Amino acid sequence: MIVILLIVLVLAILVAAMFIVSGAKKKAALARKPAAEALPEEDGKEVADTLAGAVRCRTVSHSDQSKVDWIEFEKLHKFLEERFPLVHSSLEHEVIGKASLVYCWKGSDPSLEPILLTAHQDVVPEEELSRWEHGPFDGDIADGFVWGRGAFDVKIQFVAILSAAEKLLKEGFAPKRTVYFGFGCNEEVSGDGAVLIASEFKRRGIHFHMVLDEGGAVMDRLMKQIHSHVAVVGVAEKGHLNLKLSVKKHGGHSSTPDNPTSLGILGRALARVEVAQMPCHLVKPMEWFFEAVGSNTSGLFSLLFSNLWLTRPLVFSAFRKNPQYAAFIRTTHAATMCSAADAPNVVPDVSEAIVNCRLIGSDTPEDVRRWVEKTIRDKRVKVEEAGESMLQSPVSPIDCEQFDGLRAIIGSVFKDTIAVPYFMSGGSDARHYSSVSENIYRFTPAMMNFDELGRMHNYNERLSVDNCGKALEFYLALLARFAG
Ligand SMILES: [Zn+2]
Repeated sequence: MIVILLIVLVLAILVAAMFIVSGAKKKAALARKPAAEALPEEDGKEVADTLAGAVRCRTVSHSDQSKVDWIEFEKLHKFLEERFPLVHSSLEHEVIGKASLVYCWKGSDPSLEPILLTAHQDVVPEEELSRWEHGPFDGDIADGFVWGRGAFDVKIQFVAILSAAEKLLKEGFAPKRTVYFGFGCNEEVSGDGAVLIASEFKRRGIHFHMVLDEGGAVMDRLMKQIHSHVAVVGVAEKGHLNLKLSVKKHGGHSSTPDNPTSLGILGRALARVEVAQMPCHLVKPMEWFFEAVGSNTSGLFSLLFSNLWLTRPLVFSAFRKNPQYAAFIRTTHAATMCSAADAPNVVPDVSEAIVNCRLIGSDTPEDVRRWVEKTIRDKRVKVEEAGESMLQSPVSPIDCEQFDGLRAIIGSVFKDTIAVPYFMSGGSDARHYSSVSENIYRFTPAMMNFDELGRMHNYNERLSVDNCGKALEFYLALLARFAG
């Protein structure tokens, strides 16, 4: 009886302590909503119309550069010149590499470091054409949406940036701070567009106050426990690595097989790797994310997220169950490619597979390679790095005027919204700019729900006309705050 009373007492003290910590956290910087500024609402129709025109240019990326139709990029550039005459007559602009665009809007105060607004011009292929309600490159505007490949990922970003600049030029705005725009041409295939732009900036000795690329968006009711919309701003992204698993064993005719074949051995190795999981890490961006979410929820979620020193195992175990969330706390690995014999009656001499890994925190390519080797426990399977790998990107600070400014602008443009830092499980061009800035943020100014997000890189991609207006408002406010 005394033991039970003691346990109840200890639990009561712990819960009370958690409430106290939770209360203290609520006062943390991330919990404060910056004061929303009243901004004039922008009609999205004109931006939507321009976006539709950009969608009609089939700027599809291919890993094999010889398959890219560069005429479509030229078509897009011509279209932008026609749509944005003041931008093209007032700003220095140039083509870098194959088709990447760089614009420079000179500021009046050379003591201020410039900012860079980026986006990519290329898109992924249309995939299942028969499932599109509107042609992927027709640029239809219907039911309040611009339909088509790239409408959201991410032609809206450069269309809205240029629309904001054109409007400000028309109004006679002259920036104090120099503003650069950099639009790469092959982000979707991890191409060299942004790499060349960044190395050109570095060569010219340009260092940026801030870089803003595509990334998170405003999530319409991310969790029902949070009573406002949540804008997730990427402050870092995962690294990547491809591992080649290969097995060599003499093959021959399949009528007299010496089982297991090289493919059988490889299959068993893949099965072992698939069921195993790498250890979880709590990286700084996720710590900040949990802190911010914990400060804006109540009840159990607030307790869980605001007291990770105690609740980390519980949060990790909940996140591990959902593949979308698990990607934020561990290095992931997925078998993606495989090759063996060319005919059904041939036992292959060599069987190979690729395991694509996304690296988190301090996990290095060599750590992951060794972990895969250990997990397979089979000396017949050779595990080696294939192609280029990349570590997790540096983490951009959130305790600075750049992040505060972004939070304030987001809160003013998107009503009833809190902006929180987060960690991107996918890759973007942003990582290439870490040699020219420490303050790199990843955010696409649009209100999204999971249905809209599911259309990205899928059929029926679209963006609402309302979001076109919001994107314009966002860049107008951003240019006024950082360059005005
Ligand atoms: Zn994109």
